[in-house]
Amino acid sequence: MNAIKLLPDTLINQIAAGEVIERPASALKEILENSIDAGATDITVQIDQGGLKLIRVADNGKGIARSDLPLALARHATSKISTQEDLLKITSLGFRGEALASIGAVSRLLLSSYHASDQHAWHIQAEGGHLVAPEPTARTQGTTLEIRDLFFNLPARRKFLKTEATEFAHCEEVYRRIALSHADIALSLQHNGKTRSHLHITDVNKRIAAVLGEEFSHTSAFVSESAADIRLQGRVALPAYSRATRDMQYFFVNGRYVRDKLVAHALREAYRDVLHLERHPAFVLYLEINPENVDVNVHPTKTEVRFRDARAIHQFIFHSINKVLATPSRQADTPTST
Ligand code: ADP
Ligand code: MG
Repeated sequence: MNAIKLLPDTLINQIAAGEVIERPASALKEILENSIDAGATDITVQIDQGGLKLIRVADNGKGIARSDLPLALARHATSKISTQEDLLKITSLGFRGEALASIGAVSRLLLSSYHASDQHAWHIQAEGGHLVAPEPTARTQGTTLEIRDLFFNLPARRKFLKTEATEFAHCEEVYRRIALSHADIALSLQHNGKTRSHLHITDVNKRIAAVLGEEFSHTSAFVSESAADIRLQGRVALPAYSRATRDMQYFFVNGRYVRDKLVAHALREAYRDVLHLERHPAFVLYLEINPENVDVNVHPTKTEVRFRDARAIHQFIFHSINKVLATPSRQADTPTST
């Protein structure tokens, strides 16, 4: 009697989707990261009904050649790494080759792209994991991904989704993180046909002001500290601008938004003497380190990382922020660019 069976690919992809694609915002995060990895400088996002009906991301990145289109939707297929050494020094946001296969297994997906090596653009469709062969289409260089009816074939999953407004709020948060991490990319966001955000290419400080508001900008201090092969930049709110929740805490490691206990602790300590325990600091910080000194292959959604020398990172962050908060003259600094 054979009780154990290998699962079919579609089912494997649906199971994998459970890990990475929790809601429309998680699908949006994955496809925005793909656009960034493709070198896009202009990305437009259109969302209908909180992303339950449609998520559409169009970019002007390098595109996907026709011959690569089916592979883009295949599991464990990626253009971003190919060897074990690559895995030890990741410089792209993606590398697992799972997102599009997962999304394609739990939605109606349309991927259209034009790559310079082809004569014209092509698109490919997947519906609940079933692929339709590429067909010719028209568009300029770049890629458009349309995700319709997320979880249409997983009713149990769809039931867990919240209201349109809540799902859109999650999408907006993903958009904000991307906007903060890449001031060098123009971005726009539409919901149900209405423009909600339009951001031009600018410097980091102007982008932060555009995304988080002038008030945060005016009541925050500029951070720019570096040591051997580590650099911390950004803005931290002065204690006068504390928050009731952790809603304005953005920490990026090599351009990737991360939530990390060690980082949170270092910041908490730096604010210890100046902030009431029940209040939370607001900050936007960019940590740049040698990719070999941070492991991003810790969790499928990649919001957790592991630092090789955690102690040194903790101390560096603590001392950098402590110094900024303790030196009033630096607080008014508003550099023009970084
Ligand atoms: P990963 O990002 O981990 O490689 P994905 O499933 O997200 O895996 O994407 C698979 C592949 O499809 C990528 O490696 C990339 O080559 C290609 N791709 C996906 N989105 C885009 C895009 N917007 N522009 C260019 N190539 C893309
Ligand atoms: Mg990806």
